[in-house]
Amino acid sequence: MRKAGRVVAEMHEATREAAKPGVTTAELDQVARRVLEARGARSNFLGYHGFPAVICTSPNSMVVHGIPGSYRLEEGDIISIDCGAIVEGYHGDAAFTMGVGRISGEADKLLAVTEDSLWAGIDRLREGGRLHDVGLAVQQVAEGAGFSVVREYVGHAIGTAMHEDPQVPNYWPGTRGPKLRQGMVFAVEPMVNLGGPETLTLDDGWGVVTADGSLSAHFEHTVAVTEDGPEVLTVLG
Ligand code: MG
Ligand code: MG
Repeated sequence: MRKAGRVVAEMHEATREAAKPGVTTAELDQVARRVLEARGARSNFLGYHGFPAVICTSPNSMVVHGIPGSYRLEEGDIISIDCGAIVEGYHGDAAFTMGVGRISGEADKLLAVTEDSLWAGIDRLREGGRLHDVGLAVQQVAEGAGFSVVREYVGHAIGTAMHEDPQVPNYWPGTRGPKLRQGMVFAVEPMVNLGGPETLTLDDGWGVVTADGSLSAHFEHTVAVTEDGPEVLTVLG
């Protein structure tokens, strides 16, 4: 899973570098495809319930699952890029949101808080802890900054499939959830909105947008519970 995670991190590095004003989201998908090919990795996104690309690209008020296409990035946009890879049968899955050129102070704060909420959640992935403490930590950071947490889409366990049970809510669901043990691996992925938490799905059946049109950010890592604490797998090095 470290190998798959490293490929995902390389996809992040390459797409982040390529995401400039004037570039289309389809071009970002091509950049990510080249990383997969160079590493001999397979895509877990391509063909997933018919998804037509190897990454999801979700600009501005789009929360997740955007299909790469003709959308051209503009100065001041924020863009969420979600990447996945399979190496030797094991999956990696991670996402980030970035500004394109200069972005507003409000957008900048949304990105910083969402990433902070991810790390607060990751810090709870410790042996003997309980899974739903992750969502509580995420929610406290996001709502503490005045933002809202999306409810309809959540994180997940991950291994020989991308989406395994149990789910990892980004909010407190009212129970503490399963006990954490060494060797468990989860994709933690807060989606945080500037406005309300409600979402809508576009007519293409994939793109999810905020119901109120407010900006949305998404950060995700694949993380193992180890004897030394949480180990983030979707990193370089
Ligand atoms: Mg993902
Ligand atoms: Mg995921």
